[in-house]
Amino acid sequence: MKGYAMLKIGESGWIEKERPVCGPLDAICRPIAVAICSSDVHTLWSGAIGERHNMILGHECCAEVVEVGSLVKDFKPGDRVLVPAITPDWSSAAAQAGWQQHSGGMLGGWKFSNYKDGVFADFFHVNDADGNLAHLPEGMDPVDACIMSDMVPTGFHAVEQADVQFGDTVLVIGIGPVGLMAVRACALRGASRIMAVGTRPVCMEVAKAYGADEFISYKDGPIFAQVLERTNGAGVDRVCIAGGNVDTFSEAIKCLKPGGRIGNVNYLGSGDYVKIPRVEWGAGMSNKTISGGLMPGGRLRMEKLASLVTSGRLDLHKEVTHVFEGMDHVEEALFMMRDKPRDLIKPVVIW
Ligand code: NDP
Ligand code: ZN
Repeated sequence: MKGYAMLKIGESGWIEKERPVCGPLDAICRPIAVAICSSDVHTLWSGAIGERHNMILGHECCAEVVEVGSLVKDFKPGDRVLVPAITPDWSSAAAQAGWQQHSGGMLGGWKFSNYKDGVFADFFHVNDADGNLAHLPEGMDPVDACIMSDMVPTGFHAVEQADVQFGDTVLVIGIGPVGLMAVRACALRGASRIMAVGTRPVCMEVAKAYGADEFISYKDGPIFAQVLERTNGAGVDRVCIAGGNVDTFSEAIKCLKPGGRIGNVNYLGSGDYVKIPRVEWGAGMSNKTISGGLMPGGRLRMEKLASLVTSGRLDLHKEVTHVFEGMDHVEEALFMMRDKPRDLIKPVVIW
C-alpha cells in the first residue's frame, strides 16, 4: 500500500509499505477524508518527538472499516467511522487509573504518527476497535468528521484542564483550529467574558462567531500587560493555551488571578524549560495551577462530542478553510499547514 511518510526529521514523501495486520480486537480502515495537524508539522520539521524513519504521518480522519478482528462486536466492514487521534489500550493500568491518554507510557495513547503508522495511507490499523472507533453519525459531513478526531477533543480539553466555570473571564491564547474549539467550549461552559489572542483575520472572525468578545495581539507587546490593562489590574480567572511557545506560560501566570488555572494543550515543539515567574506565582503561594494535557480519546468521548455537532450546538464547518480533492494533495496541504498562510484555518484532503 501507499502512504505519505516522515522519511526522517525534515524530510517527507510517499512510500510503499505492507498493509497492516488486523489482530482479534482490531480494525483495518481506509480514510475517506483526512486533516493535517500542526502536530504533524512539529513532528516532521521540528523533530519534537525525536527521529522517526519512514513513519506514515497523520492522525485525523474519517474512515471506512475494511476488516475487523474476530473479537470485534460493534463494527463491520463497510461501516463509516469517526477516528480519535488518541486510541488508548483500554485494558492498561494507566487507563484504569483514569489516564487513558498515557496508556503504555507518557503520551502512549497517541499511536498514529507517533508509535505506529498514521492515517495518510491506503489503509491504517486501529487497536481496540470497539473501544476506540465511533459510528459516523447520520448526516455528518466527512469533512466535519475529520475535525472530530483531534481539534474538538483537544480544544475542549484545554477548557476541561482550565476548569472553566459559569461567569469566568477566560483568556484563550492561540486561535488556530485548536484554540477556536477552546473558545467555543468556553462559551458552552458559561464563561462571561472571552479574550482571544491571535492575529489571522480569518481566525478572529470565526472566534467571534464561536463567542470571543475581544482580541489581543501578541505582536503588540506582552500579552499580560494588555490583559491587566483591560481588567483594571485584576487579571483573568482561567487561561487556555493553544498557541505560543515555552515563554507563553510566564505570560499566562502573570495574567491569572490568584487561585486561577491554566489549561494547556499546546504541543511545545522546542525549548528546554517552561519558566514560572516567582513573584507573580505568589512566591510559590498563589494557588495558581498549571495543567497540561493530551486529548482524551476513545469511543465514548467521540460519541459525546459528536452529539454536540448533531444537536446543532457545535458548528464545525467554520473550522475548515481549504478542501482538496484527492490524496495526491496531502503534501500540498501539509506544507500549507507548515507555512500558515493568512487565510488558513484547517486543510482537509478528501482521500
Ligand atoms: P495554529 O498554528 O494554527 O495556531 C496557533 C495560534 O497561536 C494562532 O492563533 C497564532 O496566532 C497564535 N500564536 C502564534 N505565536 C504566538 C505567540 N508567540 N503568543 C501567543 N499566540 C501565538 O495551531 P493549531 O491550532 O493547529 O494547534 C495549536 C497547538 O495545539 C499546536 O501546538 C498543536 O501541535 C497542538 N495540539 C495539541 C494536541 C493535544 O492533544 N494536546 C492535539 C492537537 C494539536 P496568529 O493568528 O498570528 O497565527
Ligand atoms: Zn492533530
